[in-house]
Parts: sequence; structure tokens; C-alpha cells
Amino acid sequence: MTVPPGTKLVLVVIDGLTPQMLEASLERRSLPTLTALAERGTLGRATTTFPSLTPVCLSSIATGAHADVHEIPHLVWWHREERRLVEYGSSFGAARAAGLGRTLRDTLVGMNAEHLSSRAVTVFEALADAGFETAAVNFTAYRGRTLHRPSVPFLGPVRGPEQFYFYNLFRAEKTGAPLSFRNRAGGSVDAYAAAVGRWLVTRDGFDFLLFYLSDYDYASHAEGPDAADVVLRRSDDAVGGLVAAAGGLDAFLERYAVIVLSDHGQTAVRDVARIGDAFGHEPDTLVAASNRAAHVYRTGDGAASPRRLAEPVVRPHARPRLVGADACGEQAHRERRLDAVLRLLGDAAVQGAAAGGSGARAQL
Ligand SMILES: [Zn+2]
Repeated sequence: MTVPPGTKLVLVVIDGLTPQMLEASLERRSLPTLTALAERGTLGRATTTFPSLTPVCLSSIATGAHADVHEIPHLVWWHREERRLVEYGSSFGAARAAGLGRTLRDTLVGMNAEHLSSRAVTVFEALADAGFETAAVNFTAYRGRTLHRPSVPFLGPVRGPEQFYFYNLFRAEKTGAPLSFRNRAGGSVDAYAAAVGRWLVTRDGFDFLLFYLSDYDYASHAEGPDAADVVLRRSDDAVGGLVAAAGGLDAFLERYAVIVLSDHGQTAVRDVARIGDAFGHEPDTLVAASNRAAHVYRTGDGAASPRRLAEPVVRPHARPRLVGADACGEQAHRERRLDAVLRLLGDAAVQGAAAGGSGARAQL
């Protein structure tokens, strides 16, 4: 598609939306706004980054880079310099263990102010440097060039997009949007986003808007990846609110190019394993696991070699995945085995989180 130069851009991110769910809903025509946008544009599938957890994915969307550059590696990870776990809210239990205040600070401020690498450039920084006005609603990888003070004292100021609106905690201007966390399960976070989004479009107050809807992910953890129809319809309504604020679809598309995308999906969990059990007896070793991936850290000199640490995980599973290794020789066999470890660590962590029941469900 060709877009005339000077067209402004709205990037809608619906957290946790799977292609299957979107395509089935478009087929049923149960999402009027997304269906209309798909009919006027193009529809495709994409692959997310790894590990496919919200903070990693949103940092990739903001920077166009993977975790090797933006350095947000996981939902929960070991900070080697500060020698502590950084927890972005993988579960309520994990947040409580890490300290609720610390988790909130890491999630709301630290990820952008301290953890997001200075080697990475966000879309908000790049556009601000080029003289464009940027806006973001609820997007957690928000680092920009404009200083904003919070509405609560304990967070401190942050640098975000010029028009920055973040769960009532930061707001560039008064919009009259309702409280975002008054009823999460009832959709109040996206209702807040929708109100701010309508306010911004009504004023045409940006060159680039990142409009982030997180309630679908929250609902798909609770109801399953393909069952959160009602919430997806609310996401569609929220995008519909932007369109209506511009005076209808034709007027909206005349003013803005639109991209709608997801950050990752969830899949149903069928088998259960706990990766931490394999490392409980290891000295100076720490496992940071969430629903979809795990890191095993060597935290001191007493830790075994990475190769030895990998063995208990790879041994029970590896053989079926190593068919054909003979033909490649012993060295290739070893490399494939290490490769299998990396993949299996991810698989096992998915299963491990499910073993914790509802308390282990990711919230972000
Ligand atoms: Zn997500």
C-alpha cells in the first residue's frame, strides 16, 4: 500500500492476541472496526521475538531490536550488577516475594529509566529528534525525550513521549479519562486508554500515536487464549472510538495510516513440569522462570559449568530431537544438544508455571 508523505501514524497494539483468534473473529465479522480496517488494508502473520513475554516484546516494538540490543531479557531476571531479581509482575506471588514497591518501581519506571539499554533508540526518541510529536497510551516501553512528573510521589519523573498517558500515573494534559485500575477484570484499563485515545484524536494532537490495549492479554490468561471474545470486542470498540473521534473511517484513514498488531500470543498448557526442581540442589545457581521461558543463572564461583547445568534438563528430553546427529559427527551432535537445551528450557518453563495453578499466571 502507498501512504502519502506526511500522513500521521496510529500503531495499535492488542496484547496477547493470537492470529487464530483474530482471523476467526474477522471471519465471523464480530469485530466491526478491525474487519473494516482489514478490508481496507492488508492482513498477515508475523513472528514475535524470543522470549515472547510482554516486556521483551514491547521493548522490541519500541526499539525495532531484539533483547541482545534493548537488554530487557525477561519478565523476571537476575540483575548481575545489583545482585537482585528484577520482577516486572510475572505473578502476584512473585511480585510479593520481590517486594511490591520494588516490583512497581521496576515495572513502571526502572525498565525505561535504567534497564532499557542506552544503545537502543526508541521510536519516541527517534521521532522527537526528527521534530515529530509522539503520543503513547499505557505502553510500557515508553522512553522518550520529554520529562513528565507522576501523579504519585514515590515514582519520580520519567522521560516519555511528548503526549504521555500511563494508567493515571503520568499524564501530559487533563483528559477527563476515568481511573484505569478501578475494575481491571471489567475492562477499566482499556476504557481509560480508549478515553485518552479519543481525546487525542479529537485534537489531532500527535504525529505518531502508540495506542496499547492490555485487557485482552489479561482476559486470555483467565479464560484461555481463544475464549476471550467479549474482551476482544471491547478492544475493537476502543479502536472504533478513535475512528469515531476522527469523524468516521474515511476521515480517520485520510488523516492517519494505521497498523494493528499483537505482541505475542498464549497457547493452552497441556503438560506440567517444574524447571526449578532440577536446580534446587545446585550451589550458587538461580532459576528465573515465567510461563514461557526460563533463565538459569550462575551467581557465584561455586556454580557448575553451563554445560553441566544444562544436562538434567536436556537428558530426559533430548534424544527424540537429535535424530540424524550421527550423520553430522560428534561435534555437531554436541552443538545440536546445546541448541536443544535452549529450546527445552523454554518448553519446560511454560509447563513449570502451569504447575503453580492460578497464582502463577502472568499478569503482564
Ligand atoms: Zn503481552
